[in-house]
Amino acid sequence: MSLSPSSLFRCRRPAPRVTVILIFALLLFGLLAGILPAAADSPLASVPQGTVICLDPGHPSEVGRGTRGRQTTEIRVAWREALLVRDRLERDGMTVVLTKSRINELVRNRQRAETANRAGAALLVRLHCDAMGGSGAATYYPGRTGTSGGVRGPSPTVMEQSRRMALLFHHAMVRRLAPALRDRGLHTDASTQVGSRQGALTGSIFSQVPVLLVEMCVLTNPHDEAFVTSPEGAARLAEAITAGIEAAVAVPPSAPN
Ligand SMILES: [Zn+2]
Repeated sequence: MSLSPSSLFRCRRPAPRVTVILIFALLLFGLLAGILPAAADSPLASVPQGTVICLDPGHPSEVGRGTRGRQTTEIRVAWREALLVRDRLERDGMTVVLTKSRINELVRNRQRAETANRAGAALLVRLHCDAMGGSGAATYYPGRTGTSGGVRGPSPTVMEQSRRMALLFHHAMVRRLAPALRDRGLHTDASTQVGSRQGALTGSIFSQVPVLLVEMCVLTNPHDEAFVTSPEGAARLAEAITAGIEAAVAVPPSAPN
């Protein structure tokens, strides 16, 4: 079959147009696929550079040396995670202050809050491991005023900011841990042993900046212990906590800086 030049023209004409549209669509898709998840996943774009985060590796304190698993201790897990999270936050342009300078340094819980206050931290994140039944990560924030050493706190403003940030933190964190590490929920200090007695945890009572405490895992649970002691698990937990912190301190795009 022969085609006249005009019919050839008619037949072939749509082909380049379709090709161009296809190429354009593919390019657009590639561009969006590359950019969108990063933008949606990383609140970093809206975290002001130099934002101060206070990381508090739990224990030893006046409360004790914390819990232990079969192979490791809460002190070791909290210290290791604090350093891993510090590296990631600094990589992302944040300033990190630790509440202790050596793994076995004894720091009272009041002093831990005071370090965050002095630093003018945007958020105080207290790193702990639980010992009980169950498995997974849980987040705690002060839901009401407490009293410790004759001091009442935290202020209503700190409580409201802590609640908002703990919510953002917890959801961003557990999303990155699933299904390896379970979500044990978001709770108030009052549901802890010390918090039920005082109204809030000591570290919250003395905090003049937003504060949350994360029970990163249940260290007495063999599955959780294996996760946090493996290099991959430790790194994944640090990434999840970093993402939680960045989600908590991110400035909404519409808000003025
Ligand atoms: Zn602890």
